[in-house]
Amino acid sequence: MTAVAPWIAAQRTQLLAQRGHAWLLQGPSGLGQYQLALELVRAWLCEAPTEQGACGQCASCHGIAVHTHADLCVLMPETQMLALGWPLPEKAQAEIEDKKRKPSREIRVEAMRDAVEFAQRTCGRGRGKAVLVFPAEQMNHVTANALLKTLEEPPGDVRFVLATEAAHELLPTIRSRCLGHTMLWPRADVAQAWLVEQGVTPDAAQALLRAAGGRPDDVLALHRAGRSPQAWALIPRAMARGEVAALADLEPAQAVDALQKLCHDLLASRVGAQPRYFAAADLPQAPGVGPLTRWSRALMQEARTADHPFNAGLMLESLVAQAKSTLNSRR
Ligand SMILES: [Zn+2]
Repeated sequence: MTAVAPWIAAQRTQLLAQRGHAWLLQGPSGLGQYQLALELVRAWLCEAPTEQGACGQCASCHGIAVHTHADLCVLMPETQMLALGWPLPEKAQAEIEDKKRKPSREIRVEAMRDAVEFAQRTCGRGRGKAVLVFPAEQMNHVTANALLKTLEEPPGDVRFVLATEAAHELLPTIRSRCLGHTMLWPRADVAQAWLVEQGVTPDAAQALLRAAGGRPDDVLALHRAGRSPQAWALIPRAMARGEVAALADLEPAQAVDALQKLCHDLLASRVGAQPRYFAAADLPQAPGVGPLTRWSRALMQEARTADHPFNAGLMLESLVAQAKSTLNSRR
């Protein structure tokens, strides 16, 4: 397992120094909620933990490293489990392999039932048990209520960590049952140095940190997806010309995100503020506040459906047409 980023390690030490059987890690995406949640459960279950967390050597640490640990229950949407390399329950795996259904994008009721049953069982290794829920906002009301009962009357030896990128979407009763921790933003120079350690060149790290609004995990995702800072810098002017190709290698949700950032920066420059995501020199002349506000609203609508577009190609074309007409409007 690679070492966690220094700002995650600092938060781990801070949280381990406090009591708490249920943590809610919250904040915007890209700040490392999942990494911190995993660090907490590693430390809780470790046979020789220190104030700095898990030892990394014992059988428990090894079990988590290879994603099989009898006393850890990971509760995620199936798409997320597959993306992060966690094994699915046998039955779910078989259903998906037999093409009876697709991997689910939310946390399934069946998985929650298994988790509740897990919480009631006695633990195997004597270090207690842990349940990790990520992203917690992917629980619907039925699954959230099932979890709530266990959170309210936790069996003695189980601890929970819920990680979320949208805490406002959680039931207030879930939030109030947990100790909240708001993820800290890394300092720009620290994030930059860490990204260089991960193999991003200094120039690309700086430019992609801007594109990702200072969120290092998002930078790494952009870097691994082969996004170059040059391609990012070209987006604003390409949109003014209506060039779909500039967004062609993005998922619909990523394309909407890029356009929202462009819209944000144009609105900022309109009121004399510094752009945040693009370099000022890469932005075309901003249209009026009216068209930009309408565009911003339309993009918010698009963001809601971007995860399940009817037709991704058509969606991209219409997004670019909308961008072009906004950027070329007279006032
Ligand atoms: Zn250990």
